[in-house]
Amino acid sequence: GRKFFVGGNWKMNGDKKSLGELINTMNAGKVNADTEVVCGAPSIYIDFARQKLDSKFAVAAQNCYKVPSGAFTGEISPAMIKDCGATWVILGHSERRHIFGESDELIGQKVAHALSEGIGVIGCIGEKLDHREAGITEKVVNEQTKAIADNVKDWSKVVLAYEPVWAIGTGKSATPQQAQEVHIKLRDWLKTHVSEEVAKSVRIIYGGSVTGATCKELASQPDIDGFLVGGASMKKEFIDIINAKQ
Ligand code: 13P
Repeated sequence: GRKFFVGGNWKMNGDKKSLGELINTMNAGKVNADTEVVCGAPSIYIDFARQKLDSKFAVAAQNCYKVPSGAFTGEISPAMIKDCGATWVILGHSERRHIFGESDELIGQKVAHALSEGIGVIGCIGEKLDHREAGITEKVVNEQTKAIADNVKDWSKVVLAYEPVWAIGTGKSATPQQAQEVHIKLRDWLKTHVSEEVAKSVRIIYGGSVTGATCKELASQPDIDGFLVGGASMKKEFIDIINAKQ
């Protein structure tokens, strides 16, 4: 079976005081031992989060660059992420793609480098509303998945996050059926283009307005293996989302 995986993406939110309080709440929460939980901290708070969070939680960076070091002002490398005790990086997030203009090619290069440094990758994909309305959701997410997959050798360190752009931060989650439909198609794509083994074993998680109220029905879908959570990952209900799988 695929271990349930829940990532919190704090995005560019919080400060030492509020994150410290959030971490205290999380540390006190009961977490299903069959669930892997990762907190995506702003890069400047990765070290702080790792020092304060209980060891039952892993820490992720929200982005990284594609080389180990050098003259790349403002960037951080997977080596630095590791040095601060984080073990995952979120790559290809919709905000990186659409606000900061990251291409499939750049995201692929980042995936390859992060994996080569031993960092786990939460690779994000997802269509915009106009794609969905034009009926090209499958084409869009398959292309994004290919750009990631072409750069992966060891799939045990990769989680795919399906985050429809229209569902992110809008309060308008995909329905369990809509998410399941894309997840199973992604698994089919992996079966055809990577291997049956990878299609079976890779975690495909859903992100986009997941809340304590919606998580259980989403988690009951056979191909939804967890969540990537923005807003609700900074609230008490994150503990309920972590424990959504019945
Ligand atoms: P929300 O849960 O706030 O919609 O954000 C989802 C997301 O982008 C997680 O990466």
